[in-house]
Amino acid sequence: METALVNTAYLIAASLFILGLKQMGRPKTAVRGNLTGALGMAIAVGATLVGIWRRDEPLGYIILGTLIGVGVGAILAIRIQMTAMPQLVALFNGFGGGASVFVAGADLIQSAGRATDPEAEVAVLVATALSGIIGAVTFWGSLVAFGKLQEFKWMRKPIHIPAQQVVNAALAVLMVAVAAFMVMNGSPLLYVVLVLVASVLGLFLVNPIGGADMPVVIALLNSYSGLAAAATGFVINNNVLIVAGSLVGASGVILTNLMCKAMNRSLFNVLFGVMEGGSASADADDIYANVRSTSPEEVAMILETAERVVFVPGYGMAVAQAQHAVRNLGLMLEENGATVEYAIHPVAGRMPGHMNVLLAEADVDYEQLKEMDVINPTLETADVAIVIGANDVVNPVARTDPQSPIAGMPIIDIDKARTVIVIKRSLSPGFAGIPNPLFAMENTLMLFGDGQQAVLDIVAAIKES
Ligand code: NDP
Repeated sequence: METALVNTAYLIAASLFILGLKQMGRPKTAVRGNLTGALGMAIAVGATLVGIWRRDEPLGYIILGTLIGVGVGAILAIRIQMTAMPQLVALFNGFGGGASVFVAGADLIQSAGRATDPEAEVAVLVATALSGIIGAVTFWGSLVAFGKLQEFKWMRKPIHIPAQQVVNAALAVLMVAVAAFMVMNGSPLLYVVLVLVASVLGLFLVNPIGGADMPVVIALLNSYSGLAAAATGFVINNNVLIVAGSLVGASGVILTNLMCKAMNRSLFNVLFGVMEGGSASADADDIYANVRSTSPEEVAMILETAERVVFVPGYGMAVAQAQHAVRNLGLMLEENGATVEYAIHPVAGRMPGHMNVLLAEADVDYEQLKEMDVINPTLETADVAIVIGANDVVNPVARTDPQSPIAGMPIIDIDKARTVIVIKRSLSPGFAGIPNPLFAMENTLMLFGDGQQAVLDIVAAIKES
């Protein structure tokens, strides 16, 4: 009876997860989707706790762990900057994977000596091995991704390991062999060895992946964390963990696929295409020889006669928290009779949908946000394009230099606009670490400064004119 009640609660929770995911598919219902998912999780956790309590099992450690988790989670959620969100997601993925390793391992130790049906036992041991492997790869891979996104200096360039692919293949073979022995005799010691080998593989797999490919890696690790959780669900026989883990795994794969498409790269190429930052032909001094800078007053004059203005937001807009100022400038231009649009690149910023979230926060109308594929064919008719804190996503070398780390990545073809104003603080490169010839093109003017201040200065100059 009790099991039936707990399973009914799990079924409701799983339905809420699916509904939440559906709601998250549209910006308008995304916040509601998050709350729906959270409600589902609260029901699942509550049902699990009730089940444990009814079986007279100790609850103390679980409650203590939950309280610590809630505390850390609340502090992080309140304090985290929007620009650091991808690092946080990387850590969440990693901790999810790490938790799976520990839960599956604890179950293995507990079950030693417990008499079970041998066939069921093999299935559980296979799931345990999978939890250990996927969980450890996810944990260490995510820590490397975190370090890269946090831009730790010593992690920006991958550590070179000779014959990396051969070493990885050897580790994979060793891992399968250890897993097979572990499944045969259920040894906790072999589980530890398995986790250690998978950990090294996790470090080695993400280490060579650099720069612009990080969004794909985060999405993939997200998917792995779900798969590890699903495997752990089989180990401890928990239905809602299997469902939730599968949903995370599946949505992570879909996101990975979308990100690969956005960057025009195959997943194989991202994972095994070893990328180094910087291209052979990229000498910044030569490229930037003809850069022209401008002033807010000059930009105000140019904007006065513009009929169609396109903003291209990027990571720097998030850093400068310039979204509200940008929206105000947009409204001013509209009052002046101009059409205003925002060109959104799928990997602009540091997480999927980063720009949409920021602009929605500033109440920019969804209708004005144009996806890259929609706006690109129309850019030749844009009078003025204002690139604010974007760099890699408007770098024309993606089209022209096959040696470039971002070669083949579709970009916003903003260089085709009649006049391009680029707002950033300096000529420093973006995340991919390469110079951008857009800054030195004939139709480009650089407005150097902090994104928010520069836009406020343009607004002030328009008011004065
Ligand atoms: P970039 O990282 O290419 O460039 C951002 C630019 O913003 C920098 O050149 C910087 O120049 C400028 N900037 C920083 N702070 C400010 C400020 N306060 N005011 C004005 N400008 C500022 O950003 P993009 O959005 O163009 O491209 C995103 C990159 O990040 C891509 O390579 C993408 O692959 C990668 N990425 C994307 C993820 C995603 O999921 N979307 C996740 C992880 C990485 P300066 O210092 O001169 O001001």
